[in-house]
Amino acid sequence: MRADLEARLARFQRLGLSHLPTPLEPMKRLSTHLGGPRLWVKREDCTGVGLGGNKLRKLDFVLKEALDTGADTLVSGGVVQSNSQRQVAAAAARLGLECHLAVYHGRVAPPNAAYETSGNALLNRLFGATLHDVPWTGDRNGAIRDLAQKLSESGRKPYVVPYGVSNPLGAVAYATTIVEIAHQSASLGFTPAAIVHCSGSAATQAGLAVGAAHALPNTRIVGIDIDAEPERVHADVVRYAQGAAVLLDLPFDSGSIEVVAGHAGPAYGVAHDATIEAIRLAGRLEALALDPVYSGKGLAGLVALIRGGRWPADADIVFIHTGGTPALFAYGETLGL
Ligand SMILES: *Cc1c(COP(=O)(O)O)cnc(C)c1O
Repeated sequence: MRADLEARLARFQRLGLSHLPTPLEPMKRLSTHLGGPRLWVKREDCTGVGLGGNKLRKLDFVLKEALDTGADTLVSGGVVQSNSQRQVAAAAARLGLECHLAVYHGRVAPPNAAYETSGNALLNRLFGATLHDVPWTGDRNGAIRDLAQKLSESGRKPYVVPYGVSNPLGAVAYATTIVEIAHQSASLGFTPAAIVHCSGSAATQAGLAVGAAHALPNTRIVGIDIDAEPERVHADVVRYAQGAAVLLDLPFDSGSIEVVAGHAGPAYGVAHDATIEAIRLAGRLEALALDPVYSGKGLAGLVALIRGGRWPADADIVFIHTGGTPALFAYGETLGL
């Protein structure tokens, strides 16, 4: 089944910007600290370009389409510390495309002055993106589409990269992670009981779910809601998974999709005690740099599931480090670091 998924994915052209495969490494000290199960980390923070992260894997597929349409400008958006728009800015620099970003203000209350200028905000400027400040309205793609409209009226050929690079093609791209984990875990001598990661704009989980259903059928995909909107996340995962299954010409039963609520803290972008504990554990025990908006909340969810007894001590669980490390520098004060 793994070979079949690989063959289906090989029909999609991609740019090859990301450094792949990303490593799959044991987290021995964290496993011991928590008293089992055996924990592993899939290093999606190590995808390379512009300090890496999970969006680059999607952009490899999605930006191939952008180039094929003859686009000269990428348009995307996100909150001030969005990892997604920083990865779009990085890819645009590499491809020699102009990059315009709708920067949403008001979704997150800035925890301190560094939030506005440091981390991803600094990198967006470094990579040469043009930033357009817009108010957050709750419509993730509205201001991005408006910006693209204005740019095309002024003679550019914009390509819209959706919020979080989440669409059915982005989900297809994420199924490639399952092929990598299937190869890597087999050569390390285990089958993961679960792959756990944080879920937001949803195409990451959608791709993992479609890929695993086909190539790792005994592995459960567990998404941790970090948006404090578990129903919306679940609905989006189902929608993108169904779209990806159509593109891959595979059957898919969305009844298997699991989005876990209760670990997002009070709101998107607000770090709570469990997140801060998870970030500290990952740093001190495994030298991993997680962030307070995404990967830290994802690990907080995994730690809570382990403490709740979800898996036996001899199970193998893969945590995906989805990236986000630059955002850590915008939250130093909040984390007491
Ligand atoms: C975007 C992002 C996620 C969530 O991935 P989605 O595909 O949007 O669900 C997780 N972690 C980090 C660091 C991200 O930037």
